[in-house]
Amino acid sequence: MRRLDGKTALITGAARGIGRAFAEAYVREGARVALADIDIDRARAAASEIGEAAIAVEMDVTRQESIDAAVAETADRLGQIDVLINNAAIFTAAPLTEIERADYDRVFAINVSGCLFTMQAVARHMIERGIAGRIINMASQAGRRGEPLVAVYCASKAAVISLTQSAGLNLISHGINVNAIAPGVVDGEHWDGVDAFFARHEGKAPGQKKREVGAAVPFGRMGTAEDLTGMAIFLATDEAKYIVAQTYNVDGGNWMS
Ligand code: NAD
Repeated sequence: MRRLDGKTALITGAARGIGRAFAEAYVREGARVALADIDIDRARAAASEIGEAAIAVEMDVTRQESIDAAVAETADRLGQIDVLINNAAIFTAAPLTEIERADYDRVFAINVSGCLFTMQAVARHMIERGIAGRIINMASQAGRRGEPLVAVYCASKAAVISLTQSAGLNLISHGINVNAIAPGVVDGEHWDGVDAFFARHEGKAPGQKKREVGAAVPFGRMGTAEDLTGMAIFLATDEAKYIVAQTYNVDGGNWMS
């Protein structure tokens, strides 16, 4: 028996990075998974590499009709949705005096509204079908404390932690558990942009910020997407059924340092 045998999952932002690693881990544990992403070509390539248990679904979490269509397509092709991982997000950084409203609107549309309205669409599906489902939101250490140049992203992830608390308390009456994972720093393509930003704003050499950030983690290195999969699997199992509205740090001790 694998831990997610018979389960189906919709994972947003799964064409690359952490979302893709979650899709691979879920399939290894016996689940069938929809990799939903705005980058449908990459989601298709990832799904075909993962194998038969994975499908690709086009989804832009900023558009309600796209959310509804992706949820309907996933339910149709996989039978139903037992687990949602709200993973799609973007990062942005700027000094406070240079934050642009358009950038703020885009980050909140994806990271916050996208998370909320995808939860809503999937919760409606679960309630309609009587599914005792699981919703896992991707928060961040950035949502637990401020960073000098990262106000907008930090605020968006604080909102995800708050949404997880309220949605968790509301949806448990329908047998749906909502929880979140708060990673620290996780290596991946996302970090290319972060490193380039800090190179510009703090005059660092390419790769320097990434090395510094990794060295400061008490565990001794940056996280990998694979470091997060254990928690993502656990939260979808029966062992986690009494866990409601929580946000778990998986961060190599970063939060404490
Ligand atoms: P990533 O940038 O590598 O991947 C994000 C994916 O989301 C991409 O495939 C992208 O195409 C997709 N996406 C972007 N906009 C979308 C939209 N409108 N609709 C649907 N899909 C969209 O990100 P990652 O580093 O793998 O991070 C995954 C999650 O983990 C995010 O929620 C992120 O905030 C969180 N997180 C990451 C880190 C880190 O250091 N990488 C740390 C803490 C939290």
